[in-house]
Amino acid sequence: MNPTKAVRHVKIVSTLGPASSSPEVIQKLLKGGMDMARLNLAYGTLEEHRRLIAEVRRLSQKLRLPTGILLDLPGSKYRSGDVKTLFSQHLDFAASQGVDFVALSFISSARQVKEVKELLQKMNVDIPVIVKIEEAPALERSSSLLEASEGIMVARGDLALNISIEKVPVAQKQLIREANLCGKPVITATQMLMSMVESATPTRAEATDVANAVLDGSDALMLSEETAIGSYPVAAVETMVRIALEAETVFPYQQIISERRDFLPEANDAAARAACQMAYQVQAKAIIAFTYGGTTALRLSKYRPRQPILAVTSREIIERRLTLLWGVCPISKPEPSSLDEVFEVAREVALETRLAKKGDLVIVTAGLPLSLPGSTNLVKIHSV
Ligand code: PGA
Ligand code: MN
Repeated sequence: MNPTKAVRHVKIVSTLGPASSSPEVIQKLLKGGMDMARLNLAYGTLEEHRRLIAEVRRLSQKLRLPTGILLDLPGSKYRSGDVKTLFSQHLDFAASQGVDFVALSFISSARQVKEVKELLQKMNVDIPVIVKIEEAPALERSSSLLEASEGIMVARGDLALNISIEKVPVAQKQLIREANLCGKPVITATQMLMSMVESATPTRAEATDVANAVLDGSDALMLSEETAIGSYPVAAVETMVRIALEAETVFPYQQIISERRDFLPEANDAAARAACQMAYQVQAKAIIAFTYGGTTALRLSKYRPRQPILAVTSREIIERRLTLLWGVCPISKPEPSSLDEVFEVAREVALETRLAKKGDLVIVTAGLPLSLPGSTNLVKIHSV
């Protein structure tokens, strides 16, 4: 793994399209910092998307850069209600491809999200759902939509058309804050580096927008036309990485850990927060989280620690899902069978990633018993 990748916290979702469909460009996007590839079903044919998905998977394996696939379902601006007719063909495709997330456009109520989840359940697949906030009803119902889904997208393009453009900046901040407080990922999207469709460098305003979206608390930033049809897809990702890294030098990590003191009055959350606080106090090099279903990593991510969260999992499906989470660097390892093995693997991971050297401290977290997913109850200061 590339240690600089673990140092960046905010994730980059990059839309693939004609400008980024060749293996050469996809490889450069992966190396340049794309964490998740977005396929927008509003454009292109299913056949083209199938090929792109296969290509991303092949290259991400070859380069050992875990990469999630987000399938964005267009739905319809003009019809609401019957989720089945709007989404079912595309959900079939999502299920057959085993994508890591689906995003739903023009959703207006939590009931629609539940209907989509029921359809997925009937197909016997478990795919996390991202709700795109594109219209006033969705904005008004953001809290129930957050509850019903696995995350949201601030879809600034359609949102601007529907609530008027001057309301978008404040909506962005409110949505991000709300998602942060309930511990679900939020993607800030659209026109972040729009001028890079035609130009090798962004405008000052765009650079500032990217930095502000990082400081607002986005888990991920999204590129659309910039990488799908632009002339500088790779430069767009690389530029976004540089601006994000610079913004993160002034991110208020410790302030957030202190503020989110009484998040949820329960043991798992207390353990996750303690791990982040301890990492800060002992200046640990990393937080190493053993996670079966991904919840331990998600819990740690919401406290926004400065240290990389190395999320160790035996399951590739979880590894790819974790690519969306702020500060989380997924690593695949066989399931440890004992507590001794947990600490041994933690040491291995710390050294392999070159984040720590012998004698450095890391924080190890896990849920015991190891075979039982869902809990976070072990926190240890561990000397590598
Ligand atoms: P789209 O969604 O790119 O599918 O339109 C994002 C947005 O509306 O901003
Ligand atoms: Mn949209």
